[in-house]
Amino acid sequence: MSEQTFVVVGANSAGGTAAATLRTEGFDGRIVLVGAEPHLPYERPPLSKEYLRGEVPRDRAFLRPKGWWEENGVEVLLATTATRVDVEAKTVHLDTGDAVAFDKALIATGGRNRRLSVPGVELEGVHSLRTFEDADALREEARSGRHAVVIGSGFIGCEVSASLRQLGVEVDVVDPGKAPLLRVLGPEIAAVYDAIHRDHGVRFHFEERVAALRGSNGRVEAVQTQSGLELGCDFVVVGVGIRPVTDAVDGSGLDLTNGVAVDATLRTSNPDVYAAGDVANHDHPLFGRRMRVEHWDNALRMGVAAAQSMLGTGGAFEHPHWFWSDQYDTNLQYVGFATEWDELVIRGSLRDRRFVAFYVKDGLVRGVAGMDRGRDVRRAMGIVAAARPVDPVALRDEDVDLKQLAASLTAASS
Ligand SMILES: Cc1cc2nc3c(=O)[nH]c(=O)nc-3n(C[C@H](O)[C@H](O)[C@H](O)COP(=O)(O)OP(=O)(O)OC[C@H]3O[C@@H](n4cnc5c(N)ncnc54)[C@H](O)[C@@H]3O)c2cc1C
Repeated sequence: MSEQTFVVVGANSAGGTAAATLRTEGFDGRIVLVGAEPHLPYERPPLSKEYLRGEVPRDRAFLRPKGWWEENGVEVLLATTATRVDVEAKTVHLDTGDAVAFDKALIATGGRNRRLSVPGVELEGVHSLRTFEDADALREEARSGRHAVVIGSGFIGCEVSASLRQLGVEVDVVDPGKAPLLRVLGPEIAAVYDAIHRDHGVRFHFEERVAALRGSNGRVEAVQTQSGLELGCDFVVVGVGIRPVTDAVDGSGLDLTNGVAVDATLRTSNPDVYAAGDVANHDHPLFGRRMRVEHWDNALRMGVAAAQSMLGTGGAFEHPHWFWSDQYDTNLQYVGFATEWDELVIRGSLRDRRFVAFYVKDGLVRGVAGMDRGRDVRRAMGIVAAARPVDPVALRDEDVDLKQLAASLTAASS
């Protein structure tokens, strides 16, 4: 039996998966999983979708059955915040006043919602969405016939808008950009989402910045924009992105540029401290750059990979990244990471809202998005991973099998 102690700070998708993996992959020392929330590790994606609409119970969202942690000898400290991780003294200090000495530690502290800095954000009826409690509070508000203003048209804003419409809530969306999901998906696909939401009755107000939230008796009643637009409402949902949570390692000497900087194997500059999930700013070997992504699948995969690195059995984390988004009856899947591209090659039809889009930069496919064609997106994962030039004609051609195309590129690169 190992005498070692591994501490995981942050008990959600990345941290929970890492702690579980340490055990299932043979670590027989002490594992301490520290989580600020009062819940065992759970999945957040349903919070803007089925859970928000009241279609699934809480129990369905947990990462492992309730008894799993105790049965597997993982000490889970819930409702407990790690106030400081002293990476030199190898000690995690807790808000309970206790301290846990570690041999290795994983930082999996995720993200925290950005706040709007405008007058009125503290009014009752102004919501954001990250936790079970946030989703429950929002669900209370989301009664048919009521009126919401959603601030932000990124994935959270769009998914919440869709769920609210499905619940019969009137929805206005305010965003400083020109279209929904524009930054990630580009103007062509953003236009498809714009049309989908408008078809479902969402009213968009683009190129509008929120100036203030107005209310009376302490409760929000309207959103006012800088151009003077005033949108009356019963409640507000703010979805303007997250910030990585690094409070516990502030001043630790670790590189905290955009989260916790880690190398390809998810190790920080301290050889015994690792990071994974939304908080990790990863040096990705495939894309040749640092990136911090905020996706569920990445949190799980990094959780596994970080545990393996801690055990000395891991290697570089090279997964090309995959995520999905459900809005109304439309499923989007995306693989890769494209921040800029020279060409968008479409297989299928944007007009029919059934397509696969390839984001091509310097001849390489850096990202693939598919609407209601998830299988094709998954088949195209190898095309991104191969990082080899591809003929756009083959990408467009429905008769070219994407998996075979990926295999031929992989063969060419080896
Ligand atoms: C509403 C919603 C819908 C989403 N939908 C999708 C989707 O459809 N597809 C997709 O790919 N992704 C989706 N995501 C994103 C996905 O949920 C995140 O990428 C994932 O939760 C990241 O997991 P994580 O463990 O890295 O971080 P987090 O989930 O943020 O968990 C970090 C945990 O650490 C805790 N913590 C922080 N600091 C401390 C400390 N000092 N001490 C102790 N504990 C601490 C936090 O309380 C938190 O519980 C969604 C997210 C939200 C909020």
